[in-house]
Amino acid sequence: MIRMRNDCPTNFSLSLTSISESCVGSDKLKFVGQLRKVMIMSDRKSIDCRDYPSESGCTLRVEGTEEEVLEVAVNHAITKHGHPDNPELREEIRGLLKPVE
Ligand SMILES: [Zn+2]
Repeated sequence: MIRMRNDCPTNFSLSLTSISESCVGSDKLKFVGQLRKVMIMSDRKSIDCRDYPSESGCTLRVEGTEEEVLEVAVNHAITKHGHPDNPELREEIRGLLKPVE
């Protein structure tokens, strides 16, 4: 899901102190930059209709921020898959979103 350099801590909850202990000097800066990039990328979510086989054989894949994907996916589920338009559908789809690698 989230790949990090092997020689750096992989746990986001680690404090900056423990990061600086493991990655010194420019390595630390590089790591922090990489961490920021990974975190931005991990904000992206996707949903793929192929993971949820339907009679229509839909192959749509949506990728973007959680809100973007939700908007499109909910609309799609209602118009193309005949799902009822209600708040539960939105929450159900939110639970199906996968982080983009
Ligand atoms: Zn679909």
